[in-house]
Amino acid sequence: MYCKEVNLLHDNLSIEGNNLCFAGYDTVELAKIYGTPLMLLDEQRIRSTMRTYKNAMEKYFGNGARPLYASKALSFVGIYQIAKEEGICTDIVSLGELYTAKKAGFPLENAFFHGNCKTDFDIEYAIENGIGYFIVDTYDELYAIDRIAREKGVSQKILLRITPGIDPHTHVAISTGKVDSKFGTAIETGQALEITEKAISLHNISLEGFHCHIGSQIFEIEPFCDAADIMLSFIDNVKSTLGYTPKLLNLGGGFGVRYVESDPVISYEENIKKIAEHINSYCEKNQLHKPVILMEPGRSIVADSGMTIYTVGSVKEIPGYKNYVAIDGGMSDNPRYALYNSSYTVLCANKMNEDPTYNCTIAGRLCESGDLIQENVSIPPVVRGDNIAVLVTGAYNYSMSSNYNRINRPLVLMLGDKIRVAINREKFEDVSRLDEFLD
Ligand SMILES: *Cc1c(COP(=O)(O)O)cnc(C)c1O
Repeated sequence: MYCKEVNLLHDNLSIEGNNLCFAGYDTVELAKIYGTPLMLLDEQRIRSTMRTYKNAMEKYFGNGARPLYASKALSFVGIYQIAKEEGICTDIVSLGELYTAKKAGFPLENAFFHGNCKTDFDIEYAIENGIGYFIVDTYDELYAIDRIAREKGVSQKILLRITPGIDPHTHVAISTGKVDSKFGTAIETGQALEITEKAISLHNISLEGFHCHIGSQIFEIEPFCDAADIMLSFIDNVKSTLGYTPKLLNLGGGFGVRYVESDPVISYEENIKKIAEHINSYCEKNQLHKPVILMEPGRSIVADSGMTIYTVGSVKEIPGYKNYVAIDGGMSDNPRYALYNSSYTVLCANKMNEDPTYNCTIAGRLCESGDLIQENVSIPPVVRGDNIAVLVTGAYNYSMSSNYNRINRPLVLMLGDKIRVAINREKFEDVSRLDEFLD
């Protein structure tokens, strides 16, 4: 029965003897060989999800539509190699991500540079390295890009980030499409039309279209359809008042991922199909020009292609209160419970056939009471040395990791036809490599 539940969450999980397997590899064996904490990635699943987006977008939106992998979800050299091999574009949000993509040989003309506070140095460096597009948030940035592009004698392609005024009812910290947002320019206030007029008038800016991103972990299609309607009407208004027709409409990321059994199962292909049908008929009905559609999946490409294995260090029972199971990682490799109370599925990887009768809180090893991975989970009774698996940790775990408490970041393995190191385990020398002796 327990075995079945596991298989239900995602089909890259299975059981061999008493052990949890991921992407066909025995996680307990891997923990023995490579040590913990250990992050595992399922190469085949990453590739097939990228292909699902690419093929479904081409098929249903037609006309040059394509996904951009939002690499803030998980950024390292190998992921840009895979994105390049799968022929998809990428989003970057910093020069660190740009540099990593460049190091991977990713063609930067297929990269889109996001963020609400790009510095002059960011803009110069990105233009010098042939960035494809900037996604522009504000006037300050628009003028800075125009000025720097002029100095360098180039015309720089941009999209304008617009806030369509949608609240997709997800957690407030990860919903970004509302008028009161630190990102983008609002349609409702008239400012979106004004900044569009300005962008068109600047000589070293080539306005290619518009962008919106309404939030993350969204399972329904309605918020995307609503956002598309608002953006398409805005584009129509831009056309009639300014005589400008954009080439591109970027609908952002945000498809939901199944972290726990109570999360719905959704098909990305089916959702893309429905959104495309909606857009196609809306354009037809209102006789609107249909731009080339872009989407920016991050979480949905890598989240369920990743998991983390830890080792139990201690079990502490407080009679009348609760039980704590402490593991050899924590908020330094997964800060999402501490930040957002995020749900995770927790298993004992080496006791997969035992009944999950023990209720406990999974605590990290960091000196912080809020350093918890999950509260109120049911696992088999565990002892020091057992392996704890936290599922669906591929997105916004490693990319949000830190060296708090001078903890070294975990090893990341890419499991495919063979096992490859994606990111080495940090060493103590790495953790202190930027420090200088005071003389
Ligand atoms: C974070 C982000 C994404 C990716 O969102 P997911 O929920 O991970 O798919 C896409 N676009 C923008 C602008 C973002 O900030």
